Amino acid sequence: MISVQRNELEMYSVGDLMIPSEKVAHVQGGNPMEHALLVLVKSGYSAVPVLDPQYKLKGIISKTNIINNMLGKEQFELERLSTITVEEVMNKNVPYISPDDNFSKALQSVIDHPFVCVVDVDGFFDGILTRRAVLKLLHQNIND
Ligand code: AMP
Repeated sequence: MISVQRNELEMYSVGDLMIPSEKVAHVQGGNPMEHALLVLVKSGYSAVPVLDPQYKLKGIISKTNIINNMLGKEQFELERLSTITVEEVMNKNVPYISPDDNFSKALQSVIDHPFVCVVDVDGFFDGILTRRAVLKLLHQNIND
């Protein structure tokens, strides 16, 4: 039978598990889509956070957002990459959690998302919590 040491998991907060902001690739809302596509392709990530110059979270931009918005009436229009900005196509209603949230909240937050942004009480971006980090800790604490 598989069991989990819940007490040990609850010792961890989101802040312990997140990738800190300085190690997270991001773009700014005013950047053209082309810049975001370059960051996404070069990093190999499917999506990255969008921050303002003060490091406040504005949204998330994904490869899917960009590809959908390159489509004209009948074909892909490459020139859209330089004329449309990240803030015009990003997802604006993105979930976020606090660095002080506990493991249960962390686990719940990544059920529907490969990563969620971590934002402090003043709205500043602290980093991201990935589903990978949560599953890794869960795996370490499973006894069978
Ligand atoms: P992973 O857990 O490495 O599979 O990452 C899942 C997703 O989280 C990636 O596709 C990215 O969208 C995002 N991600 C992970 N690490 C980073 C990072 N260092 N910078 C920006 N986004 C990241």
